[in-house]
Amino acid sequence: MSAITKREYYGETCVICEKEKEKGIHLYTTFICTDCETEMIHTQTSHPSYQFYIKQLRKITTPKILS
Ligand SMILES: [Zn+2]
Repeated sequence: MSAITKREYYGETCVICEKEKEKGIHLYTTFICTDCETEMIHTQTSHPSYQFYIKQLRKITTPKILS
């Protein structure tokens, strides 16, 4: 019984690192993994990595309007 219910579950694809992660938060319709969320919080705005996060986040902060 345990064998049949066992399945691999990788969660969702993170919008920042583009990897499949189990844990994270949802922002609009996208997903940010806990790792990236933590990284972003601890990254200084002057740090080069911050620009990367901003770039990735731009995809989600401007929701597409489909008509
Ligand atoms: Zn991530």
